[in-house]
Amino acid sequence: MPAARTTGIAVSALSDENDCKQVRRAGDAAANVPPYDQGGNIVLNGLMMDRPLLISSIITYAAEVHGTAELVSADAQGHVTRSTYAEILPRISRLAHALRTLGIRPGDRIATLAFNNQRHFELYYAISGIGAVCHTINPRLFPEQLAYIVKHASDRVLFFDGVTAGIVRQMRAQWPADLRYVAMEDEPSTSAIGDIPGLLCYEALLADHPPAMSWPELDEKTASGLCYTSGTTGEPKGALYSHRSTLLHAFGLAMSASKLHGQGKRLLPIVPLFHVNAWGTPYSAPLTGTSMIMPGPRLDGASLFDLMDREGVTGSLGVPTVWRGLLTEIEKRGRKPKDLTLAIIGGSACPRSMIEALENVGVEVNHAWGMTEMSPVGTCGQLSPEQAALPAEEKFALQETQGHRMYGVELKLVGDRGERLPHDGRAVGELLIRGPTIASGYFENPEASAKLLDSDGWLRTGDMARIYPSGFMQIVDRTKDLIKSGGEWISSVDLENIATAFPGVAIAAVIGIPDAKWDERPLLVVQPVSGATPSKESLLAFMATKIAKWQVPDDVVFMDSVPLTATGKISKLHLREVIARLRA
Ligand code: AMP
Repeated sequence: MPAARTTGIAVSALSDENDCKQVRRAGDAAANVPPYDQGGNIVLNGLMMDRPLLISSIITYAAEVHGTAELVSADAQGHVTRSTYAEILPRISRLAHALRTLGIRPGDRIATLAFNNQRHFELYYAISGIGAVCHTINPRLFPEQLAYIVKHASDRVLFFDGVTAGIVRQMRAQWPADLRYVAMEDEPSTSAIGDIPGLLCYEALLADHPPAMSWPELDEKTASGLCYTSGTTGEPKGALYSHRSTLLHAFGLAMSASKLHGQGKRLLPIVPLFHVNAWGTPYSAPLTGTSMIMPGPRLDGASLFDLMDREGVTGSLGVPTVWRGLLTEIEKRGRKPKDLTLAIIGGSACPRSMIEALENVGVEVNHAWGMTEMSPVGTCGQLSPEQAALPAEEKFALQETQGHRMYGVELKLVGDRGERLPHDGRAVGELLIRGPTIASGYFENPEASAKLLDSDGWLRTGDMARIYPSGFMQIVDRTKDLIKSGGEWISSVDLENIATAFPGVAIAAVIGIPDAKWDERPLLVVQPVSGATPSKESLLAFMATKIAKWQVPDDVVFMDSVPLTATGKISKLHLREVIARLRA
């Protein structure tokens, strides 16, 4: 075996792979040392250019190659403005110059507090393009969380739109005094908070700067975006994305959700730019020449339906709760938005009844799963032509799973002792993930970072899942939401899916409540469809036809509105508190 001469260590003497890695690292640092494989053999490097994968290259490419693809942006009143990628690039360049004039340097964090609109899209590119970090803030977070993350991120400037101006007014006293504010508006006078000293206006900021930019050649590992988890327990934790991870995610998404993308396709992200990068679509859409329709803050079923109809939207992405609103509108009008053929649903489990209802009106459903820590898409359920042609029952069963992994994402299942479980469609274990689009730690949080990965470098998702030999993955529950009754596990997700299929049920949530005899028993909480009054007895009788008797919830609590998290998912933490209070 060859020896690593420059380091003075004979590779043949190395005992294990870790030692080899040390040699490689030492060799790299010393420069001019050939690379080694894991067995200590010298390998031959390719002779291709080592050009960095940078976010600026997406928008410059889109402006050149897909210059006529549109970005349509609806405001709070529903008025629409339209631009093309070719028209947007000069605005992004102006904005990038303006940021530099404000003293922004590589690595600085710039906060955005805004809904899905054109200016927010421009900020994504201008901020990361000059090596700064776009810190998207979820306006639905609690005030304490908003106070915490702006301080933790040390944001230098905060951009806000008209809808979030009230939050800025409320939070300003708790944010650092030297934070600068930019109203994402046409005129300073139209801002709802004109009393901030030094308040800047977006359009005025752009006006004085040149429309061309020589984008810096950053290292592709440079941080580009920051998003805090909604923090159901403890303080929010920041996932810090890089240019490289963002591009690889965009490539992976464009392939895994290929029916969403492409020239002539029109994509409406209901998922917000303020959380997990609107699932990566602001990058994958321009890359593929897909037009984007930004819905602004009006996300109710009727507004979304009208916008989709008018703008010829072909595909859209959102969490089940927003699809519920759109589905109600589809049922009311007796038709779907005219060009809509694809719904990507994720963020929490999509109930079978929703899949069937959308498929029955001609909207294909791709169920997707992901996490803030993974950029965020991990799996997506686009079916092959053979799978799509399966009998309805088999097809729906496949669509109920969360799909197969995106390229670059590896999945493994582990049991209680960390042992690997087979991907046989039966074994259920915790899901661990690895790949270049997945976080290796949290931003400036060594304590949380230390718990994130297992000893082999895989990220613990906290989700329980099974994986089929075909690669399809099914989330069974969050580890902490599984209910243990008389020593047997009950999946809250399974029960919620069944309950949601019952007429008159809009949202169903199942939590475990303490029980003297069985340790824990499932309790079903239901938010009825507006105006409906489903009966407890008939709902439980319906559930008893679908599952074993011991799994049927003991009771049903009806609520006008089930508490949701800042990302529109059912907040079980909050729900448990409400139910505990009710029961007390
Ligand atoms: P977040 O980081 O806030 O986006 O939350 C990530 C978590 O949401 C995952 O770990 C899952 O528990 C849950 N989740 C996301 N997508 C799905 C899905 N399609 N089905 C079930 N749970 C999901």
